[in-house]
Amino acid sequence: MAGAIWAVAQLEDGRPKGVSFETVAAAQKLGEALGKPVEAVVMGSGARSAAEAVAAKELEAVRLIDDPKLDPYTPDPYAAAMTRAVEAESPDYVLFPHTYQVRDWVPRLAAALDAGFVSDVVAFRVEEGTPVFVRQPYQGKLNADCVFADEGSDGVRFVSLQAGAYLASDAAAGDAAAEIVEQEIDLGDLETRTEVVDTFQEVVDKVDLSRADVIVAVGRGIGKEERLDIVRELADALGGQLAASRPVCDNEWLPMDRQIGSSGQTVAPKLYLAVGISGAIQHLVGMKNSGTIVAINKDPNAPIFAVSDYGIVGDLFEVVPALTQKVKEARGAA
Ligand SMILES: Cc1cc2nc3c(=O)[nH]c(=O)nc-3n(C[C@H](O)[C@H](O)[C@H](O)COP(=O)(O)OP(=O)(O)OC[C@H]3O[C@@H](n4cnc5c(N)ncnc54)[C@H](O)[C@@H]3O)c2cc1C
Repeated sequence: MAGAIWAVAQLEDGRPKGVSFETVAAAQKLGEALGKPVEAVVMGSGARSAAEAVAAKELEAVRLIDDPKLDPYTPDPYAAAMTRAVEAESPDYVLFPHTYQVRDWVPRLAAALDAGFVSDVVAFRVEEGTPVFVRQPYQGKLNADCVFADEGSDGVRFVSLQAGAYLASDAAAGDAAAEIVEQEIDLGDLETRTEVVDTFQEVVDKVDLSRADVIVAVGRGIGKEERLDIVRELADALGGQLAASRPVCDNEWLPMDRQIGSSGQTVAPKLYLAVGISGAIQHLVGMKNSGTIVAINKDPNAPIFAVSDYGIVGDLFEVVPALTQKVKEARGAA
C-alpha cells in the first residue's frame, strides 16, 4: 500500500525470529504516531506458515515474497526482491531488525534505490509529524538524533532497530488474522553471486545474549575474577547466560561479548538478575526492557533498585550461594 510502514521479518528455520515481532511493535508505534497503515513483509522459500504467524498481529496485510532463491539467505536475491517490492508498492518507511543479515543486504538495497538508511536505532519519537530516530555512534558514547534529509518528499526510507529496543510482547495482536498478500516478484533473471557453503553460530565464545530468556549479570561488586564462579553457578542453575557490566569486561574477567549496556549488548530476557551492579544509566539502557528485573546489592540506595521488580539488599557473597541452593532444590538438582 502506498505510504505504508513496513516491518520486515527475519526467518530462522522457516519461523520468524523474535526480533521480527520487535520490528512489528516498532512499526505499529510509528504507524500510530504518523497515522499510516502498517504492513509486514515475510521473505523466504516456502514461507507461508511464517507469514501466518506474523499475520496474527494487528497489521493491514502481510506481504509474502516466496521464492526458492531466497533460501538459503544470500544478499543479491534479498536486495533485488525488496527493491522490486518497494518499487511496486511505494512504502514510506521500511523497518528491519538490526541483524547480521540486515547489515549485509540492506545497505545495498538502500544504494540501489538511492534511499537513506538509519541503522541500529535504539528509539524514535515524532516531532511535528517528522520521525526522529536515535542511534548511538562511537560505541554508545553519543546519542545522535537522525532525521531523513528527504522527509516530506516521495520515496522510501530504511531503518533498522537494535535488538531489545522495542519489545516483541508490545506487538499488538489483531482481532482477526491479517490478509496474506502474495507479492509477485520474478527473480528468474537474477544472478546470485554468492553461494552458501556452510552456516555456523559465530565462534563458541561469541554469545548472542539477545536470545537468552534468563540473564545473570555480574558487576564490579564481585571484586575479583576468581569469585565469578559463584555467579556462574547461579546462572547455570537457572539455565541462563552469564553477562556483565562494563568494568568486569574492561578488567577482562569476562569477554566483551558478555557486556550489557550502551557500549555492549541490548537485551530483554524474561528474567534479568543484576548482581553487584550499581545501575549506571549506560548499563540500564541495555537491560531496562527485561521482563522481570531482580537486583542484589548491599547499597539500599543503588540506582539499580529503581528499575527492579524485586530487590535484595545484602552481601552478594551470602545471597547468591543461598539463592543458587534454593534454585537447585526447586529444580530437584540439589
Ligand atoms: C561512554 C560510556 C559507555 C559505557 N558503557 C557501559 C556499558 O555498556 N555497560 C555498563 O555496564 N557500563 C557502561 N559504562 C560504565 C558505567 O558508567 C558504569 O561505570 C558501570 O556500569 C558501573 O559498573 P558496576 O555497576 O558493575 O560498578 P559500580 O558502579 O562500581 O557498582 C558496583 C556495585 O556493587 C555493589 N557491591 C559491592 N560489593 C557488594 C557486595 N559484596 N554485595 C552486594 N553488592 C555489592 C556496590 O554497592 C555497587 O552498587 C559506560 C560509561 C561510559 C562513559
